[in-house]
Amino acid sequence: MEVSFPVTLIPGDGIGPEVADAAVRAVNATGVKIDWDRVELTSDVILKAGQVLPKHVIDSLEHTHIGLKGPVTTPIAGGFSSVNVALRKRMDLFANVRPVKTLPGVKTRFMDLHIDMVIFRENTEDVYSGLEHEIVKDVVESLKIITRTASIRIARSAFTFARQGRKKVTAVHKANIMKLSDGLFLRCCREVASEYPEIEYKELIVDNAAMQLVVRPETFDVLLLPNLYGDIVSDLAAGLVGGLGIVPGANIGEKDAVFEAVHGSAPDIAGRGIANPTALMLSSVMMLGHIGERDAADKLQGAVEAVYKEGRHLPSDVGGGATTTEFTDAVVRRIES
Ligand code: NAD
Repeated sequence: MEVSFPVTLIPGDGIGPEVADAAVRAVNATGVKIDWDRVELTSDVILKAGQVLPKHVIDSLEHTHIGLKGPVTTPIAGGFSSVNVALRKRMDLFANVRPVKTLPGVKTRFMDLHIDMVIFRENTEDVYSGLEHEIVKDVVESLKIITRTASIRIARSAFTFARQGRKKVTAVHKANIMKLSDGLFLRCCREVASEYPEIEYKELIVDNAAMQLVVRPETFDVLLLPNLYGDIVSDLAAGLVGGLGIVPGANIGEKDAVFEAVHGSAPDIAGRGIANPTALMLSSVMMLGHIGERDAADKLQGAVEAVYKEGRHLPSDVGGGATTTEFTDAVVRRIES
């Protein structure tokens, strides 16, 4: 009897359900047997449950240990705290891994270059600890937490990954100013780097890194960053290869993993049927690789690349005129051909 993998599907809100349905169609077309457990997690569900992580979501993930997740809207400057941050902390998904790669046929300012970098962003601490308070009226404090444990394990993930065919790891920091917090992060990176002499190790101050990424993006290989710089640099890097519509991601822990795109819920285009599902499809490729379904992963990756190369059914954010469904139809046709 064929075994099917249980996976928690969290469509999310905004464009989440549109791109999640597209990704599920594409994954199912590969022939892999996935037992999707679809759970609703939207701002409405959170407000009704009075909890950022309602029990039905946690129960499902504790059963499957693998999630495919669309974005969830976080209210700005008030309201409930980020569901994404809560999930990563609750499941101890300490490594946020984001491959940023040139896709054939996408018109960008850098299309003559071959960009292929992988971002390793620490996912559980830094200013995302959510420790903020008002000391006196109009004076607030936000705490940046950096620990040796979290810094060592993200550095080790980056170097272990680099050992499988990469050449260089660049640690990004601001230790010239935050000597204690970023200083500790950097010391941990150096310590781990010394265990991997075959991998070139470099350090860049974050502002210089931002400039170098724009001027020489093709020279970056693996990037290793604390949480906030990783968040910002991910979007910058996405912009180099054609935008948020195409960059996938994974949140990986010791036992559990949740795969999700870099982009958010894109309220400006939600419900219009034009969202680009590539990022979540490529996150699904990472998920298939993670569960050992290499053939299905290669099929889906190949189909997405073929549709981009052909260029006739590209979504509007990458210069085409196809709807979410038309693009997905083209990917599914490729898989089935
Ligand atoms: P966003 O990523 O949602 O959108 C930024 C821009 O990119 C918008 O113009 C949007 O239309 C475009 N875009 C994003 N994804 C796209 C896609 N797949 N196809 C085509 N265009 C796409 O960022 P934002 O506007 O800063 O955030 C909106 C909401 O999403 C906020 O509430 C934020 O907190 C949340 N968010 C959630 C996650 C997550 O769930 N992991 C991540 C980032 C942001």
